[in-house]
Amino acid sequence: MGRSWLFQCKKKSYPVESFPTTSIIIVFHNEAWSTLLRLVHSIINRSPRHLLEEIILVDDASDKGDHLGRKLENYVKKLPVPIHILRSNERTGLIRARLKGAAASKGKVLTFLDAHCECTEGWLEPLLNEIYKDRTSVVCPIIDVISDDTFEYITGSDMTWGGFNWKLNFRWYPVPQRELDRRGGDRSLPTRTPTMAGGLFAIDRDYFYEIGSYDEGMDIWGGENLEMSYRVWMCGGQIFIVTCSRVGHVFRKTSPYSWPGGVARIINHNTQRIVEVWMDEYKDFFYKINPGVKNTAYGDVSARKNLRKKLECKSFRWYLENIYPESQMPLDFYSLGEKFDFQVFSYTKKKALQSDDLCLDISSMNGPVKLFQCHGLSGNQKWEYNTETYALKHVNTDMCLQKPVGKERDMPSIGYCTGELSQQWILGDMKL
Ligand code: UDP
Ligand code: MN
Repeated sequence: MGRSWLFQCKKKSYPVESFPTTSIIIVFHNEAWSTLLRLVHSIINRSPRHLLEEIILVDDASDKGDHLGRKLENYVKKLPVPIHILRSNERTGLIRARLKGAAASKGKVLTFLDAHCECTEGWLEPLLNEIYKDRTSVVCPIIDVISDDTFEYITGSDMTWGGFNWKLNFRWYPVPQRELDRRGGDRSLPTRTPTMAGGLFAIDRDYFYEIGSYDEGMDIWGGENLEMSYRVWMCGGQIFIVTCSRVGHVFRKTSPYSWPGGVARIINHNTQRIVEVWMDEYKDFFYKINPGVKNTAYGDVSARKNLRKKLECKSFRWYLENIYPESQMPLDFYSLGEKFDFQVFSYTKKKALQSDDLCLDISSMNGPVKLFQCHGLSGNQKWEYNTETYALKHVNTDMCLQKPVGKERDMPSIGYCTGELSQQWILGDMKL
């Protein structure tokens, strides 16, 4: 284990003379001088010159300090790679800022990076190699961690991939065994990932536009990565984490900029645009879990719906079944129970009682009932529902789930099955 895959990577050679050139697009709003220049210099020092078409910096209406103005312009003029600075007069958000950068680019491949990254030696070739082999591949490096306290560089793991939870938050999860097997155990081969983090990726320029670039109706930040992930997979492309390519990113604890109208408004707005266009019947599930999201206006999505039709994209269910069967979205569930006072649960086809990525789990006859990461292997997480007695019996222990007696927010417990009222669960009847 450890980092042995990195040695495999070092041994690889690529037909770099035939590779397409890339434009690197970096958007920023009030980025610090040191982090931005650390990135620009790492690109110049660690990319084969003939593959670098240009670096495009898009200033999304920064308004703090003056280092990003004339000072930056004068500085980049002296660098040995063409660097263009574009500016928006108004804050447009990262999605429209990236589109502005893409529109001005000349490279055959677009490489998007957050403004506070550091590219490592050999980062670019393995990314371009995948696009060279197949222009419908959208590729991400492994994102290493740069500490936001010390700015130290920490090598990240090749054993995580991108997923999402019930709230449609992007999350990292362990790469499942089936994907490790698909690569024949060779960890230097790219990982197929259901979603991408979104800040750092490369894509063939023409393909970027063919597949619908970005949803211009999305504001400021958030959701565009899931929107693009669903779209690429459902409409015939693929997304890889290229484990031989590594780029560090400063993970910040809080966002350093303002959110016009509030964070929730913006996130809900963007999220609804995804849900309405891409999630089919899972939209009902999403709103049931996240009723608050529905109250936000999300604008007109008809153009995106038409795009989906025009590209003849597959269904969200297809995506869950084929690309992301490990997803926490209940692919099939008997019931979406809401009667557990403390949380919304679904009773899944695997007979788990699941809330987001957590399952009700019991490891001994005496309980207690705990919430554990769902493992999908039945075992301690398997419950049998009896439609006549309304009992939920824990299969391994033969005990029945009973309602909390005390406060509303208590966990349920287990006891010998008696059929009493406290052991009767009327499961909600929402079905997909
Ligand atoms: N950004 C932008 N305009 C905005 C918000 C963000 O140009 O309104 C830029 C930001 O400067 C960064 C990139 O978009 O280069 C991604 O944002 P951030 O790093 O805050 O996202 P995170 O890494 O926290 O997901
Ligand atoms: Mn960032």
